[in-house]
Amino acid sequence: MSSKMTRRQFLRLSAETMGGVTAEMSGLGLTAHAARTPTQEIKRGREVASVCPYCAVGCGQIVTVADGKIIDIQGNYDSPINVGTLCPKGAATYQLAVNPHRWTKAKYRAPYSDHWEDIDLEEAMDMVAERFKNTRDDNFIETATVNGEEKRVNQVLAIASLGGATIDDEWNYIHQKSMRTAGLVSIENQARI
Ligand code: SF4
Repeated sequence: MSSKMTRRQFLRLSAETMGGVTAEMSGLGLTAHAARTPTQEIKRGREVASVCPYCAVGCGQIVTVADGKIIDIQGNYDSPINVGTLCPKGAATYQLAVNPHRWTKAKYRAPYSDHWEDIDLEEAMDMVAERFKNTRDDNFIETATVNGEEKRVNQVLAIASLGGATIDDEWNYIHQKSMRTAGLVSIENQARI
């Protein structure tokens, strides 16, 4: 018998080999596992087009809402930027909005204390605002000598501002505007770093 194999014989042998492999997998319970995979639940509600808040790529998202609550966030297939895809960070946006582990208090450690304590966000905001105002007033520079000439600079070098990636575009805009108004020059955002 010739040792040469025709194309037809090769395809037949391949099919038989794969059949054997499938039978082996079935014997090991592997195909049974695939059959047990639960059907993915389809979440239904009003779909709202949105933009991922995390970075400057600006991937489109579809936020599904039911009974006034977010029930799902996915990539938007109509977006020419991401065509339905989301990176791992964007794919986890739902957990940013709906998360039982989300902290609703601020952690505060008083000067010379050896432990942290929970304080209300309102109280924390007041404390931050007070420290910001005092530091700004104590360190405000009205003029500086530039190339031997006295110039008005109206700046603060004692405070730096670092925005977070979960802050949306609009708030980032307001944030940097208010920081510049206060005289800060060290302004950055985590999404850009
Ligand atoms: S974080 Fe990811 S999903 Fe969100 S805009 Fe950036 S690349 Fe897109």
